[in-house]
Amino acid sequence: MPRLRFPQQPPVRSRRAGVHRPLATGQSLAGATPQEQQSPVWLFDLDNTLHDTSYKIFREINLGMTAAVMETLKLNENDASELRTRYWRRYGATLLGLVQHHNIDPHAFLQRSHAFEVAPLVRAERGLRDKLNRLSGRKILFTNAPLHYARAVLKHLGILRCFDQLWGVEQMQLHGRFRPKPSVTLMRHVLAQEGIHPRRAVLVEDTIENLRSARKAGLRTVHVFHPGTPFGLGKSGRPDFVDLRVNSVGHLLLQKRPLRGA
Ligand SMILES: [Mg+2]
Repeated sequence: MPRLRFPQQPPVRSRRAGVHRPLATGQSLAGATPQEQQSPVWLFDLDNTLHDTSYKIFREINLGMTAAVMETLKLNENDASELRTRYWRRYGATLLGLVQHHNIDPHAFLQRSHAFEVAPLVRAERGLRDKLNRLSGRKILFTNAPLHYARAVLKHLGILRCFDQLWGVEQMQLHGRFRPKPSVTLMRHVLAQEGIHPRRAVLVEDTIENLRSARKAGLRTVHVFHPGTPFGLGKSGRPDFVDLRVNSVGHLLLQKRPLRGA
């Protein structure tokens, strides 16, 4: 298997200084203030969690990914489309299959596949910034999407500064290999890097497999139901690894007792 030629980038701090305290894996959060030990840390997914990808962006990503595969591997549209779907199902991300089997340049691929302007395409619930600010506790963006795209979406929504740290796919590497969500090892790594005890962490996310892994890593979980999420659950039903099921960030705020211990 080829090693990555793409250097891992550190997570991007978007606001406060001094909150990033790496721990060795498995180490407890000794030295944290009582308040830090008590308040939850929210890990937010991006697509179909903080904004509605099915409105217009998913189509652009779809076109961009296919075009990027066509150009990178010199394939026609049908073959490129079939290949990226196959890798996406097998690895959870087209990028992983391309790196593993074709040794492509991940940075160029991420830039090409997400080259569109997001502003006219973003749709999200109203008052999202106020809602996020009302949700007490530190917030971290935790997305399998490339960072330049994630930043553009957050900026357009006016919520970039709601997040202390941004983890995009560029940061999701372990030992020189991409390990995006739903990797349990990655989730433990992120918590250790951020100095967060798993019991304090809550993953807010639309993709069921990512929530299942989060529970294995010891996190609490909020499922944001979105009808456009592939392989999602129906409108009802809550698996035992999901603590809470909501339709929006606003819905999460309305919960009287959102999560045990939160
Ligand atoms: Mg998502």
